[in-house]
This record gives sequence, structure tokens and C-alpha cells, in this order.
Amino acid sequence: MRILLTNDDGIHSPGLLNLAKALERKHDVFVIAPDRERSAIGHAITIHHPLRVERILIPGLVSETYVLNGTPSDCVKLGLEVLYEDVDLVISGINRGPNLGSDVFYSGTVSAALEAGMKGLSAFAVSLDGENNFDFTFAIEFMTGFVSFWEDTIKETRLIFNINIPSLPGEKIKGIEFAKLGYRKYENIFEKREDPRGRVYYWQAGEVRDQLDDPETDLVTLKNGKISVTPLKIDLTHRVLLEQLKDREEDLKKYFRHKLPF
Ligand code: MN
Repeated sequence: MRILLTNDDGIHSPGLLNLAKALERKHDVFVIAPDRERSAIGHAITIHHPLRVERILIPGLVSETYVLNGTPSDCVKLGLEVLYEDVDLVISGINRGPNLGSDVFYSGTVSAALEAGMKGLSAFAVSLDGENNFDFTFAIEFMTGFVSFWEDTIKETRLIFNINIPSLPGEKIKGIEFAKLGYRKYENIFEKREDPRGRVYYWQAGEVRDQLDDPETDLVTLKNGKISVTPLKIDLTHRVLLEQLKDREEDLKKYFRHKLPF
């Protein structure tokens, strides 16, 4: 298969390069990633600066590899439109740290996968749980297997998966589940500080308070030591509410009857 690989931790991230090394044994892999860490950049694209792409050599890596001074979404767009044709699958990751629940809106990792989905391709966003000392060994082994699973079973279905892997050795992983996105709430987000000149500034961080009452969420699945796989879709339309609102369309029009010509 032809696989495009990207991430939001930057081109030198071991999660990206070691996954590329593992996948290139069996697949035609192409790497394009940001020149620096772009975590929490969301779905941003670069339109006010020139985009420069450079081919680089990574020791031990055979795959064609490019570095871009843009965002993860830029990497997918430029990679697919300019550099690499007939891609079967896009993989974004393996990210340092989880991308769970409502955090997918902030995530550069997930956004890169969604960008591929917007282009009609299948894509996996992959993240390893934890905060530091990341050991990607099991996650890489799992992903090579998961790519084969996808290729052998559901390749014809266009899909976007958000995958989160526990930060545990393989033998300690409790299982794997298809799960829905949960909700993450942050508290005490802004820490107020003062710079040496007495001016106030803020650090945005905060403590996360996960809602863990629904066992079907990715939050609970990962917390229970299982790999979580969430199918995502691009369309954010609230279908149920849309149907209900159809009944209110006349009210809406009446409200504007003296103001607008319809
Ligand atoms: Mn990241």
C-alpha cells in the first residue's frame, strides 16, 4: 500500500520516524511533517506565509521524507496535492500524549487525519497515552498490525479513526474497544504570573476533569488500560436538532418579515 505519514510533534519525533521504519518493511511509505512541534495547532492552515518544503535524509529510514514549515494540515494538503499521488491511507502520529474526547478539536494530530478524510481518504490519528518518557515499542507493533487488519477487512470503507494507546507494555494492555468521544473539561486554565518588568502574563494549561460516567467513551476505555478506536466524521451537523428546527422555520421567517424581503 501507499501510506502518507505525518504528525504534529515535528519531523524528528520518534513516534513518527519509528512508525515509518516499521511500516516501510511492507509498504510504500512517504513522510511529510512540520519542521517543529505544532501540537494543539488544531486544523490551522498557512495562507499568509510562503510554504517551503525540503527533502531530507533520516538515518535508517528508506522512505521519501520531507519537512515543511507549516502545520499538520498543510502537510497533508501539500503532501497529497503536490508530492505524492494515489495514497491508500494517511496516518498521523504516533503522538506524544493522548488525544481524547473534545480535545480532538485542538489536536494537530487528529486534524491532519480529518484533512485526509476531507479529501476522501481513510486516515488514522494515533496517540500514545502518558506525559513523558514515551516508549513507542508496543504502539508501533500494534499499528503495523492494525494497518494490516484494515487492509484485509475494511479497506474499501472510507473512514477516519482516532486511536489512543495506553502507555503500558504489551502484556499489560487489557484489550481493544471501539469507543465514542467523551468530554474533557479543564479547570483553573489560566495561571497568572508577572514578568521581570512587572507586567502580568498568563500560562494556559489547567487540570483536566474527565467525565467518566459513560463506559462507552474513549476516556474510560483508555483509563481501563484498553486501546480505544473511535470512528470520526467530518460533518458536525446535529441531525436530530436539524429535523426539530424544521418546525421552527416559519417562526424564524415571521420574526424577520418586516426586516428582510422573504
Ligand atoms: Mn503532539
